[in-house]
Amino acid sequence: MANAAIPIQLIHAPQHNGMVIPYIALRHADSTPEFGRVEPARVTECILERRCQLCAQELADAAVLMARPQDYADGYVPEPAEHPWCAAYSIRACPMLSGRLPRHRDRTRPTRRHCTLPEACWCGSNEPPSVDAIVRSGRAATPWYSVRFPMSEYEVVESARKGPRGISLRALAHPKVRLVARGHPEPHDLVRLVLWDLPWPAAGDEGGH
Ligand SMILES: [Zn+2]
Ligand SMILES: [Zn+2]
Repeated sequence: MANAAIPIQLIHAPQHNGMVIPYIALRHADSTPEFGRVEPARVTECILERRCQLCAQELADAAVLMARPQDYADGYVPEPAEHPWCAAYSIRACPMLSGRLPRHRDRTRPTRRHCTLPEACWCGSNEPPSVDAIVRSGRAATPWYSVRFPMSEYEVVESARKGPRGISLRALAHPKVRLVARGHPEPHDLVRLVLWDLPWPAAGDEGGH
């Protein structure tokens, strides 16, 4: 993983291999983080308590969500928001968001080599991970958008029995939506781009993403 410069607000945050460990990241028994998989209880905590998924501090005036076209179809983002500076760091540091990986790694298989205590850890069991933990894994590379909005428009979408589903996209009046990774959209994603009027580079503009 490339090392992105760590913003001043995050210098005391725990790190692994030069990367800030997101608060919501799944941990092994030896506390090694499993980047890209989440701890469902921490996701719920951050969504309900209006905290940042990277640094766990309370969100202030403005926040940023990372959204896929699929999230627009659902009407909410199933992960917590971030401070603007934490989102900027995530976009630079996360291989998926910075467009350096063509697709999510297949995270349905535990990576035993990352952990020194497999006998005491979830990664040492043959149980498949919970659906919650892999909600965003194993998909073709979808486009990703950053969605910046004022915290006055922050609205949790609840489910009837299972706690919060995520943070509403439909409650946002004037979000600043920016394409951060083009990915390789499938036909149904291209339909959603049009349907939700999401920004997309003009034909022939192959520069950047
Ligand atoms: Zn482990
Ligand atoms: Zn933060």
